[in-house]
Amino acid sequence: ERRWRNTRRILRKFARDCATPVPKLWHLANDLVSDMEAGLVSNETDLSMLPCYCVPSLPTGDEKGLYYGVNLRGTNFFILRARLGGKDEPASELHREEVSIPTNLMTGNFKVGKELVKDMNQALENHGVNMRVSTLLDDTIGDLAGGRYYNRDSVAAVTLGMGTNAAYVEPAQSVSKWHGTSPKSGEMVINMQWGRFCSSHLPITEFDASLDAESSNPGSQIFEKLISGMYLGEIVRRVLLKMAQETALFGECVPPKLATPYLLRSPDMAAMHQDTSEDHEVVNEKLEEIFGITNSTPSVREVVAEVCDIVAERGARLAGAGIVGIVKKLGRIASRKSVITIEGGLYEHYRVFRNYLHSSVWEMLGNDLSDNVIIEHSHGGSGAGAIFLAASQTQNA
Ligand code: ADP
Repeated sequence: ERRWRNTRRILRKFARDCATPVPKLWHLANDLVSDMEAGLVSNETDLSMLPCYCVPSLPTGDEKGLYYGVNLRGTNFFILRARLGGKDEPASELHREEVSIPTNLMTGNFKVGKELVKDMNQALENHGVNMRVSTLLDDTIGDLAGGRYYNRDSVAAVTLGMGTNAAYVEPAQSVSKWHGTSPKSGEMVINMQWGRFCSSHLPITEFDASLDAESSNPGSQIFEKLISGMYLGEIVRRVLLKMAQETALFGECVPPKLATPYLLRSPDMAAMHQDTSEDHEVVNEKLEEIFGITNSTPSVREVVAEVCDIVAERGARLAGAGIVGIVKKLGRIASRKSVITIEGGLYEHYRVFRNYLHSSVWEMLGNDLSDNVIIEHSHGGSGAGAIFLAASQTQNA
C-alpha cells in the first residue's frame, strides 16, 4: 500500500513538473519570437536562424513537368519522381525507390553542401546520366517548398520525426545579418534549427536533466530533447526506472533491461499509450517484449500508460507553442491565414501526439483565431519536398 502511494506520488509530481498550461505556452511562444528576432540580427544566438540563400524562390504552384528528388536518410537513399501539373493540379505519378547505401561507401570523409553536390554531379557525369543536382537541403525546407506549391499561404514547415526542426519564410529585409544580395522574391527561407531553442519557461524535470547530462551533446538541443521521437521513449523509461527502484513498481527486483538507455522507442511508447484494450493487454505485451517484465498488473500498466501520456502531451504542446510563436513572429495571427506543413513519423503515426499538438494551438488562439492557423500533413510524404524544390529552382531560375 505504502509503495503504491509512493508510485502515485512520483506520478503526480512528474505530471505537475511537466504541466504546460496555456499561459506557460504563451511565455514559450514569446520567448521563441524574441530568440528568432535575435537570431536574424546576429549569429551568436541559441537559434541558428540560417538564411537559405540557395533557395532564391519557393514554388509558385505553376510548376509543370517531371521532376526528381533525392533524399538521404540514415543508411538509405530515396529516389523520388513526380509529375507536377501546375495550378490546382496535385503532384501525380509519384514514384519512390529506396536504395540502401553500401557500407563501404559510408566511411568517406564528411563533406558539407557544395562539395558534396560537386561530387554527386561528377558521378552523374561519369555515368553518362543527363541530370544535375542543383542544391542540397534540409528536409524541412523541402516540406516548406511542397507546402508552397499547394498553397500561397504556406509560411512554415515543421519536422517531427526522430528529430525536430522548423523552417519558415521571412521578408528578406528583416534578415539583417544577411549581407548578400536579396532574392528577387523579397523572401528568404530561414532554417531555424529550432531543436536548439531553450527557455527558462521550458518544463524541464529531473528526468530531462539527467537525460541531457548523459547525452552525447549535453546542454544542446534542449527543445528537441523534450519533443522529438528520439527522446520521448527514453524519458518514459527513466521515469519507470525511478518507480521501479524507489517503489518496486515491477516487484522486488528492478528489471535489468529497464536500466538500458534508449531501449524504449517512440513507436512502442505510442502502442502502449494508445492501447484501448481491456486490462491494457498491449502494455503488458510491450513490457514483456522490451523489458522482460512478466508480472505487471492492470493497475501497474495503467501507470505506464499515464507516464506515456504525460510525456507525449508535454512534447506535443511544446511543439504547438513553437508553431504559434512562428505565426506570431510573422504578425499573421489575427490578420491572415497561415498554413503550416508538418512532416515526420512522430506526427504521422502517433495519433494522440498529433491531437495534443492541434489542441494546444486551438487552446492558445481560441476559437476565432485558431481558424487562421491551418496545420497540414505534408503532401507526398517523407522526402518528397525535394521534388518541389527542384521544380522551383529550374522554372524560376
Ligand atoms: P526520420 O528518422 O528522418 O525522422 P521519419 O520522419 O520517418 O524519419 O520519423 C521516424 C521517427 O518517427 C521514428 O524515429 C520515431 O521516433 C517516430 N515514429 C515512427 N513511427 C511512430 C509511431 N508509430 N509512433 C510514434 N512515433 C513514431
